[in-house]
Amino acid sequence: MKNECRDWLQECIKAFPKLKKYSIICSYKRISSKSLGRVKGIVQTQRTIDPESLLLEGEAKIRIKRKTTSNFNIEINMNLEKIENPMLRKQAVKYVIIHELLHIENKDLLTLSKNYKKRKNKKIHKKDFHNAVLEKFNIAREHDKLPSIKNVVHMELAMNTIFSKVKI
Ligand SMILES: [Zn+2]
Repeated sequence: MKNECRDWLQECIKAFPKLKKYSIICSYKRISSKSLGRVKGIVQTQRTIDPESLLLEGEAKIRIKRKTTSNFNIEINMNLEKIENPMLRKQAVKYVIIHELLHIENKDLLTLSKNYKKRKNKKIHKKDFHNAVLEKFNIAREHDKLPSIKNVVHMELAMNTIFSKVKI
């Protein structure tokens, strides 16, 4: 199955030089919430056991260490796949990808709760954040030879309109 999101991620990542060292995957996914997309950090769990305690006393002292890695998984709400116009779909999906890439760059998901709902409620979607998304988005639009968009309110409004159209 073709994964257009993966190709578009490659175009978007060019606007994020700092993220080139990370391993990021991207695909459409059924997302029940009202979100257009989300990003998950992949957390590695390491189990260690105290060998002396086990071998000499028969007691299993296990420690679990959780470590965030440089692997991330961006999920795009699969409803966006229903946008029929391919270039419109590409622009909408790229906007969502860039939003999530900025969360990775800002380390929002490392510093904040791993629980997505909790994270969403924190104040990470300030106006500055959306301005920064739009700035990166305009860089990514150069690749598609499209004019830049100046007004962040218009852009968010357009995304909301697109999303409500493809919801059902
Ligand atoms: Zn967000």
